[in-house]
Amino acid sequence: MPGLSKPIIGELDMVVSEHTPFDDGADSGFDTIVDFKTAARMRSDDRPAKDLQATVFCYAFEKVHGRRPSFRFDVVTKAKSPGVRHLYTGRDDDHYRRLEKLLVTADKGIQAGVFMPNESSFACSDCPFADRCAAWHRDCSATISMVVKKDPAAA
Ligand code: SF4
Repeated sequence: MPGLSKPIIGELDMVVSEHTPFDDGADSGFDTIVDFKTAARMRSDDRPAKDLQATVFCYAFEKVHGRRPSFRFDVVTKAKSPGVRHLYTGRDDDHYRRLEKLLVTADKGIQAGVFMPNESSFACSDCPFADRCAAWHRDCSATISMVVKKDPAAA
């Protein structure tokens, strides 16, 4: 990604070629990135439209293959009567420009030593930096130096 100090590395669960019931099965299909999720209950339908993972995956796929994909969450609920839902979404150039700006801004923060814990992250449960993260607000005490100017009239 232009302006980023490191590459974006990720792994797609699956990519499928989808076809409408009326196409000839040859060239008229479209690529869909599929990401599998499990959930205690069905997620709201508007979440895929704002999901950052979907944006990153579509962006990466388009950079590598030169084709704009569709994106689908296949959500399996773990309730008493389990169910599966296919939640479709898509991304356009404006989503991609926003993603680039977001990641470049985050990268600049990292380069400058800015750290903001996100303790609701899925990664916290087995994070190797959890101890240091828990003590972060104690370790980063700042020293503020003040310059007191003498009042020349008081001399
Ligand atoms: S515990 Fe790890 S993953 Fe969670 S906020 Fe802290 S550094 Fe990030």
